[in-house]
Amino acid sequence: MNTPPPLITMMSQLIASPSISSSQASWDQSNKKVIELLESWLSSLGFSCEVMAIPNRPNNVNLIATIGHGEGGLVLSGHTDTVPYDQGRWQSDPFSLEERDNKLYGLGSCDMKGFFAVVIDTLRDMDLRQLKEPLIILATADEESSMSGARALVNQQKIKARYAVIGEPTQLKPIYAHKGIMMERIQIKGQSGHSSNPALGNNAMDAMHLVMSELMTFRQQLKKKYRDASFVIDYPTMNFGCIHGGDSANRICGKCELDFDLRALPGMSNQSLMEEIQTILPKIEETTGTTIEMRSLFEDIPSFLTSTDSDILKTCEALTQQTGDSVAFCTEGPFLNQLGIETLILGPGSIDQAHQPNEFMALDQIKPMQHILKGLIHRYCLQTVDNKLIKANTPPIDKHHKQTKIDPFNNVDEEDRV
Ligand SMILES: [Zn+2]
Repeated sequence: MNTPPPLITMMSQLIASPSISSSQASWDQSNKKVIELLESWLSSLGFSCEVMAIPNRPNNVNLIATIGHGEGGLVLSGHTDTVPYDQGRWQSDPFSLEERDNKLYGLGSCDMKGFFAVVIDTLRDMDLRQLKEPLIILATADEESSMSGARALVNQQKIKARYAVIGEPTQLKPIYAHKGIMMERIQIKGQSGHSSNPALGNNAMDAMHLVMSELMTFRQQLKKKYRDASFVIDYPTMNFGCIHGGDSANRICGKCELDFDLRALPGMSNQSLMEEIQTILPKIEETTGTTIEMRSLFEDIPSFLTSTDSDILKTCEALTQQTGDSVAFCTEGPFLNQLGIETLILGPGSIDQAHQPNEFMALDQIKPMQHILKGLIHRYCLQTVDNKLIKANTPPIDKHHKQTKIDPFNNVDEEDRV
């Protein structure tokens, strides 16, 4: 049986297989070449691979690669797509992996095709026949655009496992929470007319002024009601991002549109927020003689929170010697949590280098990540995990995460630990 090529070769091949996802059709590409590479390498290590179709996305697929059996187990997850790139602003070809200054440059190097190469290279050294619980490598589509890959997993109730780590670039810091995001458009239709007589029309811009006042009041209420000290911006935010209305100073404004986003804290429901905003609108319609509609600019992403009592957080804190934290970007974490898999975000590289020219993964992130991956696999797949025992043996940590002592390499020979 073939074995996967060296890490750098794998990463080069992944980077050289463009897999941009974008809501703009001119950028959007298939991810199938990336999936084919992963499938061939993981098959050669003994994984059984399921390529999963995604409804309404004929060119994009998820890969679920599984080895071992059991009720518990670990998912190592990543997305196969990248964002588009700025033509002419890269120092090297974004699709050709280049090593300079101890960094590996390429589109998707840290966010996050490189993660798969790091994982597969780690597995090469491990005796996977000894697994007592399943290990699943999950590769999703469309994370950077619609998250349709992760949504399909939830809709089809795919994948059963106890724990998951998503290798988004966190500089090896364990992340257990992020806010959700909704992007909404409010459209007001009034009646245009000659500006000399206000009675000749219904001014959509006047109505929008009322809507914005109500939304700002609502925003204040949310800020008062919800706080979470684990976030730098510790309250839910709502940003008015763009507004368009009217055409001429001497015409009553007939149409006005406002786009805004709302980022909710864990524990808040996007659906309820949407419903609360909807209740504001009929009164304004009535007083202004306009019609007001609200619609989503894209499907919302729920907030993400994995309990600070979860064994996966404690294990990752022990392996990284870093305290769990929150981030300001969204991930597929809430979708894996919806599948009942306690999920953490932890990966090599920095989000500061993602989504911009000259994206790179620093070489010094790779070995520590491989150590973390081995620790995770030892704890969740190689030991006979009695899940009740994990709960009983690990005292709860308080909200501000005093790390608890766990040895993920329990019963492992000293030289096998790294
Ligand atoms: Zn990413």
